[in-house]
Amino acid sequence: MVVGDNVNSVEVLVVGGGPGGYSVAERCASQGLLVALVERAELGGTCLNVGCIPSKSLLHVAELAASARHSSDLGIDLSATVSMPRVQTWMQSVIDKLRGGVGARMASHKVDVIRGELRFEGPTRAIVVSDGSPQRFEFERVVIATGSTPIELGVLPIDGRRVIDSAGALALDHLPATMAVVGGGYIGVEIGTAYAKLGVKVTIVDNAPRIIASMPEALVRPVVRHLETLGVELLLGASVTGHDDKGLLINDSSGSVRMVPAEVILSAVGRKPNTAGLGLEFLGVELTPTGHVNVDGQRRAAANVYAIGDITEGPALAHKAVAEAEVVASAIGGSGARFEPACIPAIVFSDPEIVSVGLTAEEAAAEQIDAGTARRPLSASGRALTLDRTDGFMELVFNKQDRTILGIHMVGAGVAEMAGEAALAIEMAITVDDLALVIHPHPTLSEELPELANTAIGKLGRNG
Ligand code: FAD
Repeated sequence: MVVGDNVNSVEVLVVGGGPGGYSVAERCASQGLLVALVERAELGGTCLNVGCIPSKSLLHVAELAASARHSSDLGIDLSATVSMPRVQTWMQSVIDKLRGGVGARMASHKVDVIRGELRFEGPTRAIVVSDGSPQRFEFERVVIATGSTPIELGVLPIDGRRVIDSAGALALDHLPATMAVVGGGYIGVEIGTAYAKLGVKVTIVDNAPRIIASMPEALVRPVVRHLETLGVELLLGASVTGHDDKGLLINDSSGSVRMVPAEVILSAVGRKPNTAGLGLEFLGVELTPTGHVNVDGQRRAAANVYAIGDITEGPALAHKAVAEAEVVASAIGGSGARFEPACIPAIVFSDPEIVSVGLTAEEAAAEQIDAGTARRPLSASGRALTLDRTDGFMELVFNKQDRTILGIHMVGAGVAEMAGEAALAIEMAITVDDLALVIHPHPTLSEELPELANTAIGKLGRNG
């Protein structure tokens, strides 16, 4: 509604059109609230436009190319020629379809989508600046979901040509001969794996002693082995000092200066919350020591202010943002909902994929829980054999006292699709006895879960 002085008055103002923002806007509007969502770039945010979706699309294309090269092992002689402009056209078509879907959801819920960059001007006022004339908003409540952006190393400024961020790497219209990936976290490993499979000579450089430090080391080992077979070089314990026309300059783990040949350098050293320039000082919110917006259990940052997604602490994952959106919409609707998940599933779409849901044995021990583990290699799985991918394992962590499942951790080709079942088991606090009784279809990787539960029961003894 437009009031005097051309100010739009809304009940809920949402800043950011990523998974957090569009989800909370939809949920609030479905309660009959007057909602406006402001987005400075594209609906869908990082995840849909330059993150989750293009990275998984590229990984799919890369896997097709790589499996063509390895098909002769299975008796088929194929060859793969990659045209990056056509790959990009296909990837863009996936993004466009999903973005259109988000737009349709906003329209069907009567969410007013405003294009432009928002800045707060007071505790209940904001201005949105776009190409056209600025628009002012008066709001009763605001949800900040402005996400995050890549961190830039001082010694390695991103120029968008030679040194690129993940968005640039996902938009390449040609295959460089060589690529140096700075940062062995999940983004660097996923994109590095994709390009290695597409035939690029990839080197991953990290100053940590191992890659994907966010995941337990045992789960990462099969990934390291596979990267080696793809010809990816890992330079760990190394620090970047800059770059020249031939490549990336580093001090390697022995302290020697070294040049890593790189036509393109991907900087993937982490992301920081988008708080700068928002005018957050008008809202009375606090920032945590990590620069995130400080929120309570309802994702409330001040009396009429909520914050969700990457701008808050916790894993920077799309499904966390969506779950927080659900809580905020319920809180705005007057319920006492709180964000207290039993687990937030984490996946690395490496090869093989890594899934970690719930507590590891070490985490359980740190919480003084008497926990046991059961592990099975994928070489025991009929399905893994039929897929010609037996590298990896699954592990169940269970409470020895009450027999509940505390964690499910897996590494293997195709295990990402089982993360939801793992989360369901933990969120519902089922026991190993429950899991053992659930009929799982044959032949699937999921059959390993009741097998693991039976192994756990073997260790615990039968119940009752
Ligand atoms: P975002 O999606 O970042 O959306 C925030 C939006 O706010 C942006 O569109 C931005 O333009 C807008 N904005 C910011 N400031 C303003 C302003 N002042 N005014 C107006 N608009 C503004 N997560 C997963 O769960 N699974 C994955 O497989 C996965 N893969 C990823 C791969 C890559 C390469 C990257 C970079 C990220 C990946 N992520 C993945 C993380 C995921 O993208 C984020 O966790 C998710 O997008 C966070 O959602 P959000 O709503 O908090 O913010």
